[in-house]
Amino acid sequence: MIKKASVHVNQNEGLIFERSRPGRVGYKLPALDVEAAPIDSLIDPKLLRDDIAGLPEVSEIDVVRHFTRLSTWNYAVDYGMYPLGSCTMKYNPKLNERVARMEGFAASHPYTPDELAQGNLELLKELEDALAEITGLPTVSLQPAAGAQGEMTGLMVIRKCLEARGNARKLALIPDSAHGTNPASAAVCGYQVKTIKSNLNGAIDLENLRRAVNEDVAVLMLTNPSTLGMFEENIEEVCRIVHEAGGLVYMDGANMNALVGVTRPGDMGVDVIHLNLHKTFSTPHGGGGPGAGPIAVTKELEPFLPFPRVVAETDKGRRGLRLDYDRPQSIGRVRAFCGNYSVLVRALCYILTLGPDGLREATETAVLNANYIAHHLKDIYDVAFEGQPMHEVILNDKRQQKFGVHTLDIAKRLIDYGFHPMTIYFPLVAPGAMMIEPTESEGREELDLFIDAMKSIAIEAEQNPELVKSAPHNTRIGRLDEAAAARKPALRWKPAKTSSTSGASNSE
Ligand SMILES: *Cc1c(COP(=O)(O)O)cnc(C)c1O
Repeated sequence: MIKKASVHVNQNEGLIFERSRPGRVGYKLPALDVEAAPIDSLIDPKLLRDDIAGLPEVSEIDVVRHFTRLSTWNYAVDYGMYPLGSCTMKYNPKLNERVARMEGFAASHPYTPDELAQGNLELLKELEDALAEITGLPTVSLQPAAGAQGEMTGLMVIRKCLEARGNARKLALIPDSAHGTNPASAAVCGYQVKTIKSNLNGAIDLENLRRAVNEDVAVLMLTNPSTLGMFEENIEEVCRIVHEAGGLVYMDGANMNALVGVTRPGDMGVDVIHLNLHKTFSTPHGGGGPGAGPIAVTKELEPFLPFPRVVAETDKGRRGLRLDYDRPQSIGRVRAFCGNYSVLVRALCYILTLGPDGLREATETAVLNANYIAHHLKDIYDVAFEGQPMHEVILNDKRQQKFGVHTLDIAKRLIDYGFHPMTIYFPLVAPGAMMIEPTESEGREELDLFIDAMKSIAIEAEQNPELVKSAPHNTRIGRLDEAAAARKPALRWKPAKTSSTSGASNSE
């Protein structure tokens, strides 16, 4: 009797442990020709465990096929459009990857003496100078390893500066549209968080701000363009109000993809900004890293930046660079060595290959792409806020709710059309938000496919809502039980009395 064969490829990929067969190996080592050292002479016995089942015993091809198959289950920016609002998932030119892997960069030891690492130091200096030019702020620290760590570093620098001025103050003002990391960073730095309500267009309400500032306010943290994708038109006035009250202005620069080469936060009056190199300046991100969140600051704040700093010196007529550890007012280190070096390499490579005109063009294209999507979808989905969007657009599910279809369902159905879902239910001030950021990566044809998919989903929502509500249908694993998230109305972020935590968001 012939047994029916099961389809073993691309159906259910078991664990690699399930492929294990006793004695099967993927390597062959020469016989040991020295005496074996007892394991506890090599590893602290306290760290040894005997409750591990052992390693899978598999051949090389078992391993390669297992992981190659798993990789086809995944979605990636190299696979299709990844319109994740706020998180800027853009295409990363392969040239940047190649340069980051060059031996002189990838294999240089962090303890290499300065004299032998001049090229590596030069790269740091050049990137600092480029980011200073782009942000319009004179000094840059490349040390923070992520956006959130940049926020923490920037706030620590602000705190030290205000202490030096005589009063560290205790309040951080944060608009209700802020990314969750903002209140979290402020709380970590010991600030009490005070929320300021945005106006109807999601901008900072000047009257609210005037009422909120006083001699206890250390910092206003704002995002520009705001998390709603709108340019903060009163930014200069906002900075003036905070400065007059003796506070400083921190800008969350994760949305710099809308500004690079067009306008500079330093010129608007901002004191500190962090950049997400892993969003705006190449480096694939997601899954927790690696990243880089450099901060750029005003002259007044420079002495407080983390050490070491790269400094130029002339010795016997020869210019050289060295790492300076003698920074008595510094907040100290926030990360080992000089930051995530390979991310910095990619960023400089990205900046140099595009050049000033290319950077500006990337920004303009990102804004044009978002507006193209907004234009074609605004009659089908409600837009969350009136006004001209910049690099991202926020729609909501108000019209589709009539048919029982919610944002989560639309996002899931988008997977069936071959797109990564947009950011959903963030920002928290926009109920049912669908936040779409196409970036400059996408060409007209891909944008049109995305728009068509969104239009089809709107029709399906009306004519066959069950189809949308049970999506995705074309994936290996169907709908997971996320219904609870869809039923819950978008929560407004409410800070606790003395410290704060933000509501969970889907943005990274
Ligand atoms: C991504 C992001 C952050 C945090 O950056 P991480 O590198 O993920 O820590 C902060 N603010 C905004 C607006 C962001 O989009």
